[in-house]
Amino acid sequence: MNDFLKYAAPGVQKINPYQPGKPVEELERELGIKNAIKLASNENPLGPSQKAIEAASDVIGSVNYYPDGAGHKLSKALAEKHNVDKTSITLGNGSNDILELIGRAFLISSSSAVYSEYSFAVYPLVVQAAGAEARVAKAYLPEHSDMPYGHDLDAIVKKISSTTRVVFIANPNNPTGTWFNQDELNGFLKKVPDDVIVVLDEAYFEYMPDGFKPDTQALINSYKNLVITRTFSKIYGLAGLRIGYSISHPDIADILNRVRQPFNTNMPAQAAALAAIDDEAHVLESAALNALGLKQYASEFKQMGLMFIPSIANFIAVNVSQNAMPVYDALLKEGVIVRPVGSYNMPDFLRITVGNQQQNERVLAALKKVL
Ligand SMILES: *Cc1c(COP(=O)(O)O)cnc(C)c1O
Repeated sequence: MNDFLKYAAPGVQKINPYQPGKPVEELERELGIKNAIKLASNENPLGPSQKAIEAASDVIGSVNYYPDGAGHKLSKALAEKHNVDKTSITLGNGSNDILELIGRAFLISSSSAVYSEYSFAVYPLVVQAAGAEARVAKAYLPEHSDMPYGHDLDAIVKKISSTTRVVFIANPNNPTGTWFNQDELNGFLKKVPDDVIVVLDEAYFEYMPDGFKPDTQALINSYKNLVITRTFSKIYGLAGLRIGYSISHPDIADILNRVRQPFNTNMPAQAAALAAIDDEAHVLESAALNALGLKQYASEFKQMGLMFIPSIANFIAVNVSQNAMPVYDALLKEGVIVRPVGSYNMPDFLRITVGNQQQNERVLAALKKVL
């Protein structure tokens, strides 16, 4: 048998595959239990908008046809929503797809990309796949910051070198839930050379309290090197359909368009996303439920004497004051799936998705039991 790994592209040889959250059915089968809950992948506990379900169902009988490769209707609606030109929108098979398109278009083995410690696992994957150098900035230290493990934007700027083509930042960040404000973001963007692309990953944007949300339109108008990514996987509850998008200068969108698959977003996903944008009530309800859940976790963790990272996303990272793997395993036996984040170099933390009130209570009760 050939060792095919040695024939893989050099960057690919070094990749650690992404570890997804454990599916509920798998756990139930393994342990012979029922009613397990999964709060491991930042999915919306309310499910998708009813309007999105109907819209996807309406087109499912037409999937013998290819989807609209350009996604005209959805791109137009997104452009109107953000008050930008339609040529600024790029659709992706999840926003993960957009991150990969950026890697494919702009990173080669002689270039580098910058991101922070404790940031989203897909950034290193994209950089390694291209064989590019990853320049990883130190995050804020827990002892010295009210934003422990969060992005230190100054440290990120300092990591930019003459080979750097792309910088990835997330606001709020996953797995920490940390954020930066509009002034910090503007100060940062002014310092980044204008030939370096800044990817601002806003997968959890809709969960941010209103005063925290950066002005998307103003940012896009001010910085030609900025790519803002958004997704329908999180608050819109459409993770299983795989659809996301970016907003950028049309010149960058044009480049991404050259490397994407001709039909990278599917027909039910386009239809569901279009309907979901219109269901503002579903988004507001989801954000409100999440805000309650974040408070619920914060107050319980305080009572339990557990350190947690302040979060404005739909998950919260809690320090269980010991290696989190045995705690994770014990929680599985209680039918509760959360996310250990040892692979992010946070071995004592669990990342818990905010569920509905009942689910949160169940996680907290199970956590108290196993600790
Ligand atoms: C979930 C997530 C994404 C992408 O999810 P998609 O389902 O591919 O849209 C991107 N960035 C961060 C930080 C995320 O947590």
